[in-house]
Amino acid sequence: MRKQRTLREEIKASGIGLHTGKKVEILLQPAEENHGVVFYRADKDVYIDAKRENVVDTTLATTIGKDGAVVKTVEHLLATLYGLHIDNVLITVWGDEVPIMDGSSAPWVYLIKTAGIREQGAYKKEIIIKKPVKIKEDGKFVALIPSKRFEIQYAIQFDNSFIGKQKISLVVNERTFIREISKARTFGFVRDIEYLQAHNLALGGSLDNAIVVDEYGIVNEDPLRYEDEFVRHKVLDAIGDLSILGYDIKAKYLAYKSGHDLNRKLISKLLEDRDAFEVVGNPYRERVVGSFVWAPQEENG
Ligand SMILES: [Zn+2]
Repeated sequence: MRKQRTLREEIKASGIGLHTGKKVEILLQPAEENHGVVFYRADKDVYIDAKRENVVDTTLATTIGKDGAVVKTVEHLLATLYGLHIDNVLITVWGDEVPIMDGSSAPWVYLIKTAGIREQGAYKKEIIIKKPVKIKEDGKFVALIPSKRFEIQYAIQFDNSFIGKQKISLVVNERTFIREISKARTFGFVRDIEYLQAHNLALGGSLDNAIVVDEYGIVNEDPLRYEDEFVRHKVLDAIGDLSILGYDIKAKYLAYKSGHDLNRKLISKLLEDRDAFEVVGNPYRERVVGSFVWAPQEENG
């Protein structure tokens, strides 16, 4: 079990919202122990915890919201915070979407590494999966099964012959997140983009923030960052979605053609089954005797 962490310095950034196409300013600030990841819609004066009960939409991207205020496309930033173990942060946005940056987590990793990370006193709670939780739907599959570590095994299969079938299996930690996952960009198909933009979606989408694919290959001039960048981006999205649990995850996540919507259903199914998981807190029990004596005592092995 590790200690909680926050940023050493605040981070200011701005960029384009993928779906709204609008310019958004964003500010990430250090926060105290047990604060969690909280968004603040400055223009509406509403705080939105990055928690399951505030996930209001999962079509195309993950949207959180409360009291009529929403923040769209939170998953890449949330994935970065989870991947780098930033537990406590206040994220102020002057708009309704997190900037898409380059479509990956790499710019967030760079900004956070530059700002620095500060370890705090309190321990980060862990969620331990005790029995498998699965969802099968329309030829898609997703599951969480017991494991001592956070592992991901992901497979995708697209009709598109350029992407085809890709699969990846890895243990998620700070190092693997940065090296294997963080640079993978979001992607879309030429035919879908025309449809989306006709419906006022993906208005900010461009070759600067997405890999665009047609039947023959990628439309972008710059090459893929990983040979299997597509499945790696799906892993990035899944980490962001699962981070909504608010705990360090001790489980193996299995997915076949999953997405934000199925991840959301999986989390709900898990949390509704009290026998399926356990949340473990501080490994030491603090006992205050008089005013200052503190006797650590091991708990949970
Ligand atoms: Zn994504």
